[in-house]
Amino acid sequence: MVVYKFGGASVADAQNIKNVAAIIKAYSSGPLVVVISAMGKTTNALEEILRATRNNENKSELVTQLRTCHEEILTNLYGSSKQNQQLSRLLDQLEENLVKFQDMPYDMAYDQVVSFGELISTTIISEYLNEIGITNELIDAREIIRTDDTYREGIIDWKTTEKHVKKTLADKNLVITQGFIGGTNDGLTTTLGREGSDFTAAILSFCLDAEYMAIWKDVPGILTADPRLFENVAKIDRLSYKEAIEMTYYGAKVIHPKTIKPIQNKNIPLWVKSFKHPEAEGTLISGEIELTYPPMIVVEPNQALIHISTKDFSFVGEEHLSKLFKKFNDHRVRINMMRNTAISFSVCTNDIKERIEHLIQDVQHEFNIVIDHGLELITLRHYTEDLITSLRKGKIVLFEERLRQTIQIVVKDVPDMIRKK
Ligand code: ASP
Repeated sequence: MVVYKFGGASVADAQNIKNVAAIIKAYSSGPLVVVISAMGKTTNALEEILRATRNNENKSELVTQLRTCHEEILTNLYGSSKQNQQLSRLLDQLEENLVKFQDMPYDMAYDQVVSFGELISTTIISEYLNEIGITNELIDAREIIRTDDTYREGIIDWKTTEKHVKKTLADKNLVITQGFIGGTNDGLTTTLGREGSDFTAAILSFCLDAEYMAIWKDVPGILTADPRLFENVAKIDRLSYKEAIEMTYYGAKVIHPKTIKPIQNKNIPLWVKSFKHPEAEGTLISGEIELTYPPMIVVEPNQALIHISTKDFSFVGEEHLSKLFKKFNDHRVRINMMRNTAISFSVCTNDIKERIEHLIQDVQHEFNIVIDHGLELITLRHYTEDLITSLRKGKIVLFEERLRQTIQIVVKDVPDMIRKK
């Protein structure tokens, strides 16, 4: 069994979907599972629809836009305006869920709404492939990927998932399924975190002992830095699982960070390939150890530094730290970098307003808290001193940590107004 994953960009319009069909058709050597994301920016559009509904704003125009852009894709796929009953059925269900979950907790409602991006895309693509003679079966990922009820970040129940996946997929020849979504024991939908379709493909690869997994992207493979931010960026041909997990953990957007563990655990090779140039080699991630790597840069924008200090001048010792770690975990505030001094503990985290606010409410009776917003976390693997100097240019460094292979700096832009000499 082989597992392919196509992300939003690769199915953003009819032309790209036809390209996906060509890639699937060209694959001929055995059973294939194809994991597909929502089309283009549909997930963002659904987030916006949910936001408008919650704020009692008029959402009907947004739903119409969603319908229109999918209808347009259908028209361009089939060359004539095509009424699609499945699309109408799914959009009706979406509107029902907007009403049904209006007063439910936000994260729960989010998953019942935002999951429709993947449900719609896979329904359209599976039907199209069948129409053009690429016979496939559409499998609902909510029936096989079992999670707990941590909405928006469902935790996988591996045992049940493995049982369902093996039973449902093992004897199939070509399966289309949704990335990003799963289901609870109670039949509710969960999502696995933004960009989570890579993780879905890795879960299926693990459960099916896949021969290999391939992620089809709009870049030639894994690059040494984001080409939108840096010049002289190069493709990396081979990457070890260890290097890949470190890079994705630090925020390299090319693969979801949770993807590596399942495929490493079963020693499954992972290809990152370009859907625009499917014949090109891409990047191979595997157990092979490369001894030398070029410098690689990962920039995580939208960071906050939370400074926590004791109110009574007592040391921030193990007892305080274990209490604080628990709070960070409870409020799902992810620690990207941390440091403690005698009476303070500082953490660099993704600047997610609601989560940070909940954390503060929970600890402010015991600690003083100061927060810096609008920061960037720059991680440099296999660094050189010259590169560090050039990355620091025009930045104020608030936080720095240097390990043997990795340097991380939290920076903000130097303000326009500069101190006189
Ligand atoms: N559609 C989801 C997102 O945009 C999941 C994915 O594409 O991986 O985050």
